[in-house]
Order: sequence, then structure tokens, then C-alpha cells
Amino acid sequence: MSQYVCTICGFVYDEEAGYPKGDISPGTLWADVPAEFVCPLCGASKAEFSKQENSVSATSVSTETVAPVELPKDLSYSSAELSAIFSNLAKGCEKQYDPEMSELYRQLSTYYGTQQDMEHNADFENLKALLESDLSTGFAVANQVAGSNKDRGSLRALKWAEQVSRMVNAHLGKLKSDSANFLEDTNVYVCEICGFIYVGEEKPEICPVCKVPNEKMTQIGKAA
Ligand SMILES: [Zn+2]
Ligand SMILES: [Zn+2]
Repeated sequence: MSQYVCTICGFVYDEEAGYPKGDISPGTLWADVPAEFVCPLCGASKAEFSKQENSVSATSVSTETVAPVELPKDLSYSSAELSAIFSNLAKGCEKQYDPEMSELYRQLSTYYGTQQDMEHNADFENLKALLESDLSTGFAVANQVAGSNKDRGSLRALKWAEQVSRMVNAHLGKLKSDSANFLEDTNVYVCEICGFIYVGEEKPEICPVCKVPNEKMTQIGKAA
């Protein structure tokens, strides 16, 4: 008997125990779990689960296998990206009880958010390609840089960001196959702390990714 772990939130499906709450009796092999099964904590589909390996380091990302990277000397960000970065810094300062810095970052975020070159490149394929490149190489590189600098704060944020990106990628996949219908007749919540998106009637008690209580999860209005 094996165990399968949700790669988004860490929920473990144990074949031996089954999931009686979801009418899956003990001893049900993962292969026999219905295709409609979703993670009871975060709502991820079966495809987001992977077999629990016995090795302890199964979840610690391979920081060694990535070749050392030169950071680009001239990083150029679009106004939209700068606006998002400053908005995150504002939130970070708020968490660190530094309202003054937070306000300054918020002003910068608003400034860049109103710039002419704000991109509206929300093209589906473009979004998917960006996410996939993050998941295949971006996070590995970022983890390596943070790891070699022993920056534990960044490593933690990267871990969340990777899980959230994986979930967003799964949502996009669903959006593609079910068109826009998968958001009909359901609610959408976003965690203000880590950005996790939950699609479902009731928000979970705690954020499945960063584990904050659910008052930090905001309901997003339904599209008209
Ligand atoms: Zn999950
Ligand atoms: Zn969260």
C-alpha cells in the first residue's frame, strides 16, 4: 500500500486508510480512486498528487542539480511587474509593522499601476507559457540563489509561490478544457498572504498552502 501526497498543500492520501469522509473505503488503491476526486483541503485534482517516496528529501527541491546562474545585470521590468512587486513589498512592510515604508511602497505601486505601458497581455497561451517556465526553471534557479545565500525567508516564500503557481497552472488547465464554465456556480477565494486561489463553495478553515486562518482569504466577485 502506498501514499499519495497533494503537491499543492501536502494532504496525504493513504491507500490503507482510504478516505471514508469522502466515501472512499479503506484499502482503495490510488488507481481506483474516482477521477473526480479532489484534495479535501485545497481542491486540487488527482493529477496534482504524486506518489510519496520513502526518501526523506523527496520534497526538498534539488538545489545542487542546477547550474550556477549569472543574474542579468540589467533587469528590466514592465510597469505592471513593478506595480506588483511594490504592492508585495508594501504588504511585507505592513506585516513587519512598518506603516511608513508600507505607504511609500504603496504609492510606488499605484504610480507604476497607472503608467502608459501597463501591459494587458493576459493572453491565455502567454500566461500558461510564463507559468510553465517558472515551474520548470524559474523556481529551481531562484531556490538556488536563495539557498546559496542562506536566505531562509526567500526560500519559504519561494516554496509557497511554487505551490501557488502549480495550482494556478492547474486552474488554467481546467479553464482550457471546461472553458469558462468551471467558475460558474461556485465561489473563488484568494489568500492575501500567499496568493493561493481556492475554487469552491466554502473557504477552507486555514489556507492550505501558508496555513493562515481563513479570515485572510478574500472572496473574489463573480464575473458578470
Ligand atoms: Zn491539496
Ligand atoms: Zn495562503
